[in-house]
Amino acid sequence: MENLAASQKSAVQTAWGKRPLIISGPCSAETEEQVIETAQRLAKTGMVNMLRAGIWKPRTKPGMFEGVGAKGLPWLQQAKKLTGLPTTVEVATGKQVEDALTFDVDVLWVGARTTVNPFSVQEVADALRGANVPVMIKNPINPDIELWQGAVERISRAGIKEIGLIHRGFSSYGNTEFRNAPMWHLALEMKRRMPGMLMVNDPSHICGRRDILQSTAQRAIDLDFDGLMIESHIDPDNAWSDAKQQITPERLGEMLEAISWRNEHVPSPSFHAALDKLREQINHIDDELMQLISQRMFIAEQIGTYKKNNNVTIFQQSRWNEVLEKAMAKASRIGLSEEFITRYMDAIHMESINRQNQIMNND
Ligand code: PEP
Ligand code: MN
Repeated sequence: MENLAASQKSAVQTAWGKRPLIISGPCSAETEEQVIETAQRLAKTGMVNMLRAGIWKPRTKPGMFEGVGAKGLPWLQQAKKLTGLPTTVEVATGKQVEDALTFDVDVLWVGARTTVNPFSVQEVADALRGANVPVMIKNPINPDIELWQGAVERISRAGIKEIGLIHRGFSSYGNTEFRNAPMWHLALEMKRRMPGMLMVNDPSHICGRRDILQSTAQRAIDLDFDGLMIESHIDPDNAWSDAKQQITPERLGEMLEAISWRNEHVPSPSFHAALDKLREQINHIDDELMQLISQRMFIAEQIGTYKKNNNVTIFQQSRWNEVLEKAMAKASRIGLSEEFITRYMDAIHMESINRQNQIMNND
């Protein structure tokens, strides 16, 4: 018995250390047969290292399927026994942590709707005290990286040593291409703040649909994510939750085969030499850009002085329209995207306004 426990432990450790870490399984555990068949078909792909299933489901509106509850935990135990795949479930309360640990769930995850609420995260953290289990933390539903970091700190202070992050996108109003906007820069900033911490991408909840899952997963791999969490179901169209975004285990296998897996580092010296040369050019250009922006701000300040002396408003719509139109026309001629140039010009403009505001009101 003890040996069995030890070997199961090492299966989790192995999976946790695997790159890429591929986690898959249904949005929700529905029946014992569904969980077991999904696990067996996932195991057959030879590419999945961990089985996920939602047992308790946080639903936006009441009256929807809210998960089978603790009675689904033995199904996961059985699936693990049959396939060797370690298991992971979402926990949102102290009781759910206790139940999951009682039934040997190998890795726990904190969902997006929990990460937003420090009371809930603290309750989960308190229940985890003394447990030796890896915990993954999804980003909060709103684009607030401090909440994400706060959740990591709470779980870490409870003594959990192995913590991972899951990027599942951010909720936004209105219909966009994505169910949850990826805002990749926030995930990259979180990676920067938590160096070395496992970071997995969840394209299922970002996309909310099947047709762009693969390109989103590829994007994550290109950005050096450590793995993917992708929902799969034996009969996706009839899934009890998130039907539109789930795929069969076989489709997942094909998708993973088609992904180009990248390495952050390659040993080849000629690659490094070429890269270093190009990076040197980029450093030089960045330096020049900063110098130019600084000069531009200095001129904006001089304009601010004239405006102050003549009692003219800082902002003049016609002038700003003219600047923007010129920038847009040029951008399309020289291959810069409209979206980038809009953000760039807005940032420059705001800084100019702030500098002129200082001159007009603080001297
Ligand atoms: C889930 O993984 O099924 C889930 C509920 O995800 P999220 O917390 O990202 O909404
Ligand atoms: Mn889901």
